[in-house]
Amino acid sequence: MFASQALHDSADRLRVAYFMDFDVGGYYYGQHHPMKPHRMAITHNLCIAYGLYRQMDVYKPRKASPEECEKFHASEYIEFLRQVTPDTLTDNILEQLQRFNVGRQHGDCPLFDGLWDFCAASAGGSIDGARKLMSGMNDIAIHWAGGLHHAKKSEASGFCYVNDIVLAILELLRLYPRVLYLDIDVHHGDGVEEAFYTTDRVLTVSFHKYGDNFFPGTGDVWDRGFGRGEGYAVNVPLKDGMDDASFARIFEPIVTKAIEVYQPGAIVMQCGADSLAHDRLGCFNLTVQGHANAVAFVRSFQLPMLVLGGGGYNIRNVARCWLYETSVLLGTPADAQIPYNDYWEYFAPDYSLQIQPISDLENQNSREYLDKVKSKVLEQLRQLEGAPSVQMRHMPPSFWSEAAETDTDEDDNDIDHEPSAAAAITD
Ligand SMILES: [Zn+2]
Repeated sequence: MFASQALHDSADRLRVAYFMDFDVGGYYYGQHHPMKPHRMAITHNLCIAYGLYRQMDVYKPRKASPEECEKFHASEYIEFLRQVTPDTLTDNILEQLQRFNVGRQHGDCPLFDGLWDFCAASAGGSIDGARKLMSGMNDIAIHWAGGLHHAKKSEASGFCYVNDIVLAILELLRLYPRVLYLDIDVHHGDGVEEAFYTTDRVLTVSFHKYGDNFFPGTGDVWDRGFGRGEGYAVNVPLKDGMDDASFARIFEPIVTKAIEVYQPGAIVMQCGADSLAHDRLGCFNLTVQGHANAVAFVRSFQLPMLVLGGGGYNIRNVARCWLYETSVLLGTPADAQIPYNDYWEYFAPDYSLQIQPISDLENQNSREYLDKVKSKVLEQLRQLEGAPSVQMRHMPPSFWSEAAETDTDEDDNDIDHEPSAAAAITD
């Protein structure tokens, strides 16, 4: 099988960039808020304890500028995020908080100290990850503090304020005619889908829980894009209790078909870890191995790949998952026994990297249901074959054949591709 082969084949070592920022772990959404940026500090610490940092190019994310964020977001929204602090609540600010969906009492998107710096670092890491791929310096770029897929053009949503994914994809579109976006968070990747809903230059594919008023409520199989983008938004609505075997059965054929039909120049993968078993908000039953199998499967296509985080509300399991996926992306699967680290006691009593599924959680995704969804989605993808607007004939040269000739000393600042209409396509 593709996935297991990639998991255990250490010969195909790729050049991996890893964005590591321990400062992100210090931001605090609030005591009862499920989003804990502290999970990043644990993940990075495991990365050091396992020695993985020695096999990668490690970067501290640069903070994105307001201008960079305004390539997608409304400037008044970015201006607001830059200026607002918990201590500056004038009447004007209170009105804006409501308008931009920030800071409502018990709301999803609280106002906290350092909010803009938190957003700017998340955006900067993802944009620079895209640039590492574009410059040819790295085959894979990992930024676990990115992947905040719910943020809208002028509105915070679902714990997300600035949509680093949309910004990174816009950057990639300066070089690649087509970008494939894959999302395995338990929630629908609505912010990214909405941003690219009317273009054929980004194919968005989201696998998520749908129904029972589950957040954000969008992502039915019939939501397929609009206008020029019709058919280029793919939704795979799933039910509670999704397990490893069922997930692979639906994920692998759909991803294979999407890549075959669309021939993307690069892939952006959002790896939200709230699709794992035992998540505080999620309702799936994936193990770390099952989640990582999806990442390994995508890696096996050997396309430039930007790997991002996302949701994940059981911080021990988030760290387990993203550490293991880092190792899988490196081609050196990590030992199942967690070595000594600063958060050693978090992993008691078994100190295992892997997790067990919940034994009495019913998988409501019957084989019949999954086959029905799969055939609808595959039919949608088949209809994209030969679509005249998708610029299939302008496939950029493969990164992999070019890699050997690429000047690896090339400075990021040297990237000066002709700007395309990309920056305008979300307007
Ligand atoms: Zn989520």
